[in-house]
Amino acid sequence: MTEHRKRTRAVHAGTRRSQYGEVSEAIFLTQGFVYESAEAAEKRFVGIEGDEFIYARYGNPTVAMFEDRLAALEGAEAAFACASGMAAVNGALTSMLKAGDHVVSARALFGSCLYILEEILPRYGVEVTFVDGKNLDEWKAAIREDTKAVFFESVSNPTLEVVDISAVAEMAHAVGAKVICDNVFATPVYSDAIAQGADVVVYSATKHIDGQGRALGGVILGTEEHIRGPVETYMKHTGGSLSPFSAWMMLKGLETIDLRVRAQTETAGRIAEALKGEDKLAQVLYPGHADHPQHDLVMRQMGAGGTVVAFDAGSREAAFRLLNALEIVVISNNLGDAKSIATHPASTTHQRLPQDQKDRLGITPGLIRLSVGLEDAEDLIADLRRGVAAI
Ligand SMILES: *Cc1c(COP(=O)(O)O)cnc(C)c1O
Repeated sequence: MTEHRKRTRAVHAGTRRSQYGEVSEAIFLTQGFVYESAEAAEKRFVGIEGDEFIYARYGNPTVAMFEDRLAALEGAEAAFACASGMAAVNGALTSMLKAGDHVVSARALFGSCLYILEEILPRYGVEVTFVDGKNLDEWKAAIREDTKAVFFESVSNPTLEVVDISAVAEMAHAVGAKVICDNVFATPVYSDAIAQGADVVVYSATKHIDGQGRALGGVILGTEEHIRGPVETYMKHTGGSLSPFSAWMMLKGLETIDLRVRAQTETAGRIAEALKGEDKLAQVLYPGHADHPQHDLVMRQMGAGGTVVAFDAGSREAAFRLLNALEIVVISNNLGDAKSIATHPASTTHQRLPQDQKDRLGITPGLIRLSVGLEDAEDLIADLRRGVAAI
C-alpha cells in the first residue's frame, strides 16, 4: 500500500475482510478470542503469528486495521493505537525512559503534555530541560551526550510555534537521542515527520483523524522494532489501549481526512485574511501566511498552514465578548472538528499555568484559538465579524 499515494492509502490500507467480504470495515466488539485447544492457547502466548489476537488490550482486528491504515498513511513501519492522545504522549515517553534519563522538550506545549514533562517525569527521576522550541541554539545548548529523548509539538498548541524537525533531529541523533514529535497540528495529511527525522510520531486521533468530535483516541507510530517492542509492551500492560468501537470511527475518519483537512485549511487561510483587516484585533497568527514569523519553515515542513488560526482580541473582556457573540462557531476545546470551535486558552486549556509562564508562552489574556471547521467560509467570516463588532 505504501506505493500508493496518501489519499488511496487513507481509504484502503490495513483493511482486513472477514469471511463475509464486507465492504465497510467490521467492528470486532470483542475483548477476547477463542483458541482451538489448550495447546493453541499456550502457543499464542509464546508469540503471535500473523493476524492472531489474544486480548483487546494487546490488540484487536478493528484496532489493527486502524493502526495499519494510519501507519501506511504516515509512512511509518508500525503503530499502536491508544485510548486518547494523552495516553499516546505518555506511552511514547514513559515506555522509553527510566530514572536518571535526560529529556529536552520544547516549552510551548498543550497543557496536559506540559504536565507530563514538568510534573510526572521528574517525579520518577527523569530530568527535563525546557527550551524555546523555535530557537535552534537553545536545543543545541540543552542536548547532552546523555540525552535520551527530545519532545516537541511540531506546531504548538495554541500559539502555533513551529519546530524545525530535521534540524532538531540532526542534533538529537548526533548523541543517539530519540525524537518524539507530537504532530497533531500538522495532521497526517501534511506530515512528513518520519522522513524529516522523527523516530516516534504521536497523534491525538480525537482531533482531525476522527474529525467529527465523537471519540477520544491516540496513536504512537515508529519502527516495527520500537512499536512492537517497548511501546506495545508498555501499553498492553498499562491499559491505555483504544476501544474497537472508537477504532472503527477513526478508520472511517481516515477515509475522509484528506478532503476535510484540505478544505478546513483553505477556509482557515481565508478567515485569517479577513481577520487581519479588523483593527480591533491586536494580532492574527496563521502559519500559512507569509507574515507568520516561521512561514518559510512551515511551508518547507508541511507545505500548508493547517486548520488553526490564533488571534488576540486585546484583553480577556474583549475575548469573552467576541466569543459570546458568535452564532456558528461554538465555544469548546476540541480542534480539527467539522464544527468550527473557538477556545480561550488562558481561562481553559492553559488555566493551570501561572501568569509568568502564560506570558512566556504567549498565552495572552486576549488570545483565541480558532479551529476552523467545514462550514461555508463566508458564513464563518460573517460570524467572526459579528464577534469582533461585539468587542
Ligand atoms: C489534544 C492534544 C493532545 C491530547 O489529546 P487527547 O486526545 O485530548 O488526549 C496532545 N497534544 C496536542 C498537541 C493536542 O492538541
